[in-house]
Amino acid sequence: MVTIAVAGASLAGVQAAQVLRRQGFDGRLVVIGDEPHQPYDRPPLSKEYLTADEPDEERLKLRATADPAALDLDWRLGRAAVSLDLAGSTVVLDDGEAIAFDGLVVATGASPRRLPGQDPGAEAGDGSSAATLLELRTLDDARRLRAAIDGGATRIVVCGAGFIGAEVAASARQRGVDVTLIDAAPAPMDRVLDREAGMAVADLHRANGVDVRLGVKVTEVAAGEDRAGALVTLDDGAELAADVVVVGIGVVPNTAWLDGSGLTIDDGVVTDATTLAAERVVAAGDVARWPNQRFGGSLMRVEQWDNAIDMGGHAARRLLAELDGGQPEPFRPVPWFWSDQYDRKIQLAGVVGPHREIVQGTMDEGRFVQLYADDDGRFCGALCWNRPRQAIQARQLVADGGTLDAARERLG
Ligand SMILES: Cc1cc2nc3c(=O)[nH]c(=O)nc-3n(C[C@H](O)[C@H](O)[C@H](O)COP(=O)(O)OP(=O)(O)OC[C@H]3O[C@@H](n4cnc5c(N)ncnc54)[C@H](O)[C@@H]3O)c2cc1C
Repeated sequence: MVTIAVAGASLAGVQAAQVLRRQGFDGRLVVIGDEPHQPYDRPPLSKEYLTADEPDEERLKLRATADPAALDLDWRLGRAAVSLDLAGSTVVLDDGEAIAFDGLVVATGASPRRLPGQDPGAEAGDGSSAATLLELRTLDDARRLRAAIDGGATRIVVCGAGFIGAEVAASARQRGVDVTLIDAAPAPMDRVLDREAGMAVADLHRANGVDVRLGVKVTEVAAGEDRAGALVTLDDGAELAADVVVVGIGVVPNTAWLDGSGLTIDDGVVTDATTLAAERVVAAGDVARWPNQRFGGSLMRVEQWDNAIDMGGHAARRLLAELDGGQPEPFRPVPWFWSDQYDRKIQLAGVVGPHREIVQGTMDEGRFVQLYADDDGRFCGALCWNRPRQAIQARQLVADGGTLDAARERLG
């Protein structure tokens, strides 16, 4: 019987498994995931899961696995893939099991980047409680953060104002916690937004009572005086006492298990334009980096929900084409992400370009549509705040190769 192994039992991996079945693959499908939980959705972890009166973990479960029997998957949950033998077409797990495969989907995602010396689950600094220094990627992380807030944490320092840090800050504020949000960059969400839009995010947080400190770095997280909390020192000399410190300074792709495998690893698993990483091996989701031909073919690694779904599905079809001799197609998506902070839905369709203009609303009123154009003046994306319909239209326009004039007319 033909066997396909999927490493990573989360959004991209489960989507790949689902599409493989939908496309008629009736062989053995082994899904390996190092978390003990049934696959679940991460976006609510920084939003509803923290703000709800009673978090509902049932609702986090990925819909595709609501009826596990329907997909007929051979689960290996709570088990990590530790190595890949490409020549022997085998994945080895942490308990020594070797899974021989005919095709492999690599979908091992990404893990939080850590502050120097930050050890997950270990004590912060020189002895403050392990519960003091937290990160947010998994359900277990979210349980710890939620428990800290439920348990009466009144001061949270969030290191990193990317979209996870900004969402944690917003959710904690909604729970009445005093929040300080710190980033070394000059504006929040600096990696994904233009500077001015990033400053609008800073204004939004300040208006909601967050102490936003930009352009400063954390130099030390030590035990607080009462030893129950922490003392965060910044490079401008400031010292901040906190009950909880949440570190959200980006993620790194989970590729350590592929070291020495022969796959090209460079800030992720590098694939060709069709998601193929090697013969009969595809990669998808946060771990994958590929040349997106729609944006000039430069390598992209996208850490977004929608991309994990699209790419998981594409990789599944690509693998079947590889196994059955079908026609491979390039993966050319228009990226799209959303972030919920307070009463704002922030959506970016496409990519940020050097030229920008607001065609509807204003940043001050918190409802606007801003268009982006690339160096050649071509429409390449739109940032929409509380304008969900326009975000969908913008994505379609980028996909259709619409001009800036067409975007102005349609979205203005
Ligand atoms: C708190 C939070 C909020 C988010 N909010 C948004 C949002 O609002 N909008 C948005 O667009 N995106 C959001 N995202 C991003 C989105 O959830 C990710 O892009 C998506 O989860 C990526 O899916 P993935 O399957 O590629 O990787 P992951 O979800 O990281 O899954 C990979 C899985 O593989 C497992 N794994 C790793 N190594 C191994 C191994 N060696 N063997 C076996 N298993 C392994 C991991 O533990 C994990 O379970 C959010 C993410 C987080 C954490």
